Amino acid sequence: MKYNFTAIEKKWQQKWLEEKPFTAVTGDKTREKFFGLIEFPYPSGQGLHVGHARPFTAMDIICRKKRMQGFNVLFPIGYDAFGLPTENYAVQHKIHPAKVTRDNVENFRKQLHMLGYSFDWDREVNTTDPDYYKWTQWIFLQMFKKGLAYKASMPVNWCTSCKIVLANEEVVEGVCERCGGEVIRKEKSQWMLAITKYADRLIDDLDDVDFINRVKIQQRNWIGRSEGCELTFETNMEDTVSVYTTRADTLFGLSYVVISPEHPLLEKWKNRISNWDEVSAYQAEAARKSDFERGELNKEKTGVRLEGVLVTNPANGETVPMFVSDYVLMGYGTGIVMGVPGHDQRDWDFATKFGLPIIPVVAGGDITKSAYTTKDDGIMINSGFLNGMTVKEAIPAMKDYAVEHGFGVKKTNFKLRDWVFSRQRYWGEPIPLVNCPQCGWVPLPEDQLPLLLPEVESYEVTDTGESPLAKMTGWVNTTCPQCGGPAQRETDTMPQWA
Ligand SMILES: [Zn+2]
Ligand SMILES: [Zn+2]
Repeated sequence: MKYNFTAIEKKWQQKWLEEKPFTAVTGDKTREKFFGLIEFPYPSGQGLHVGHARPFTAMDIICRKKRMQGFNVLFPIGYDAFGLPTENYAVQHKIHPAKVTRDNVENFRKQLHMLGYSFDWDREVNTTDPDYYKWTQWIFLQMFKKGLAYKASMPVNWCTSCKIVLANEEVVEGVCERCGGEVIRKEKSQWMLAITKYADRLIDDLDDVDFINRVKIQQRNWIGRSEGCELTFETNMEDTVSVYTTRADTLFGLSYVVISPEHPLLEKWKNRISNWDEVSAYQAEAARKSDFERGELNKEKTGVRLEGVLVTNPANGETVPMFVSDYVLMGYGTGIVMGVPGHDQRDWDFATKFGLPIIPVVAGGDITKSAYTTKDDGIMINSGFLNGMTVKEAIPAMKDYAVEHGFGVKKTNFKLRDWVFSRQRYWGEPIPLVNCPQCGWVPLPEDQLPLLLPEVESYEVTDTGESPLAKMTGWVNTTCPQCGGPAQRETDTMPQWA
């Protein structure tokens, strides 16, 4: 006998639609609850793919089993429907993104029904529905009121020919995906979410959750907590410079210091840097590279020595030169790092290229071939009062020395950064804030939510890099909810993952 799926599945799927056997019952106190949650799909023009079907099928099996075991199961479905792919498609084909979304959702729904999933279809949600994004906006307001959403100037990807801000995924190998034009980094004021305030809890509370170990390791690496200290060095300029390090014990091996091309001290010192032309040309070159190119892909070290700048090593009073190099990112630590080429491969490569001294401070290995890594039980050499100690002993000894002598503070550092939470785009949730010249940023009263995304003539980005909403003066100009004076709405929208 052959399984006639077209007839059998159609028949049962129709029956499920009519009789709704998969509906979760609100207020049922007689049965235990089970909440089966999948990641809601992004309704693209391509329809469902196997990356949807695989996890959905797995959770569908679990939910069906739980129902058979007598649980009151909630297995919801929805569409994560704001975002760039829909907007780009809409711009290209001159169709309103709301219509593109509607058509795509219809197709997704049809395909999900064909797969026979046991979703509770009465609870279907769509993130572009004002009744839904009312709550996205409400959550944003709570974060704003608690100081967890704030505005800051951040570097963004700027296409010099389209004259627009690009999302990271629109920059392909350093050029604009849309036009192939040159992409540079530009400062722009953005809404941020202060996830770093939760960095310790995000890492410590992993002990309490039932994740597989591989995921826990990924999370720990992503948050990247390290216990180190910030060391402050005197310079021959009027400023001191600070570096963050987890290896204060290697301070006697310092042979140079490197500053990020974006560091504000460079601009301040420019009249006293005798090769400033060379330095500023290097800054312009660095501005064209992505963080990724400057990090992982950065095999060949480049940099320029700051002629006229000298830094004093607080451990031994010796002076070392300072370089600008694009492998140092402004976003991590202080934007300045110490170069200890004896015990760090990246520093060894840099020192070898620029002919800088390589001073081993832990015994063993052959320093002429490469930097050697240091083990906890390695013995300190060339290091003054640390000589003869193990690395394990020398790390806290140097930290304490730095604190006592006023050039160091103990510090915990994280790789995790606060999240950029705004885009200069149309197809996203409007940010429910008003900018008043008297009161600053003022939240809309909650009874005025949802703040509807207005209909626009053209949803293409403006040539100044502002959101298309900025052109809608009738929508932008409003009154301040606090003082009643003239004020303007925020024209950035929330990112896709809002
Ligand atoms: Zn472009
Ligand atoms: Zn006001």
